[in-house]
Amino acid sequence: MSVLVVGSVALDTVKTPFGEVKEVLGGSATYFALSAHHYTQVSLVAVVGSDFPKKHLGLFRRKGIDTKGLKIKKGKTFRWKGYYEYDLNQAHTQKTELNVFRTFHPKIPKEYKRIEYIFLANIDPQLQLSVLRQVKRPKLVLCDTMNYWIEKKRKELLLTLKEVDILLLNDSEVRELTGEHSLFKASRRILKMGPETVIIKKGEHGALMWSENSHFAAPGYPLEDINDPTGAGDAFAGGFLGFLAYTNDLSEDNMRRAMVFGSVMASYNVEDFSIERLERLKNKEIIERYRAFKRMTHFEDLNGEVIE
Ligand code: AMP
Repeated sequence: MSVLVVGSVALDTVKTPFGEVKEVLGGSATYFALSAHHYTQVSLVAVVGSDFPKKHLGLFRRKGIDTKGLKIKKGKTFRWKGYYEYDLNQAHTQKTELNVFRTFHPKIPKEYKRIEYIFLANIDPQLQLSVLRQVKRPKLVLCDTMNYWIEKKRKELLLTLKEVDILLLNDSEVRELTGEHSLFKASRRILKMGPETVIIKKGEHGALMWSENSHFAAPGYPLEDINDPTGAGDAFAGGFLGFLAYTNDLSEDNMRRAMVFGSVMASYNVEDFSIERLERLKNKEIIERYRAFKRMTHFEDLNGEVIE
């Protein structure tokens, strides 16, 4: 099964304690696509300006990503500028230039309307809902959002959430959305808003998955070097949804495996700036790290020991 992603394709300027890059390829849909294509066919819906470097379009094509839904509009590409301090879990936005993104109204090409796995990357919740209005009811909708929409478009976000299967948020967004500090209570609240499952990203500390009757925790991979955490959440989404679409199996066991593939992709993504690491990532490395996660989290049951 293939996946559809709707989100931003951007030129990012990013500074971390380990270096700095200017006007490099970024955007939520970009990170997702360059992660998910390792698992399945990806169709991309987004907009860029006429200044968007041709080499990036070439990269999408080389990776087999379908760009029929990527509009090139007269004007400038969306730009994001941010920095991270030693707490790499916290991005500080310095500048957001919407440019052609300001008037972005995602139009889903006819050929994409029956795609069964959809990622609504971080965009205005009204636009996310408009995507769902244009497609045949998919098998699975995964949705991301951010503090900005939780604050500025709460009503619209709540409407969108009614039609989402899995919500993907970081811990501070979960707390802001629900007003609950306990992630356990917050997850329960989110499950009442529409999604059947909520995934909470905790940056280098891994990710949690909650649904009505189960709870799963994937750890963060202990990396020697992290250079740039930008796009980790979208790379996670790409591994998670890409694997689910590839296997077309939504059982609890398979969702847990998908959580680990998500964590694998996020962990590779942060090793280098922009999409550099995802670009040169080999399938063999994905499998190796998946197995490393398995070894890292495996422990035996009690073997008759009783603690008095
Ligand atoms: P993340 O690290 O998951 O927050 O995603 C980072 C990517 O999101 C960057 O490459 C940015 O270009 C993109 N981004 C930042 N702000 C926005 C926004 N308001 N809307 C859409 N994409 C954004």
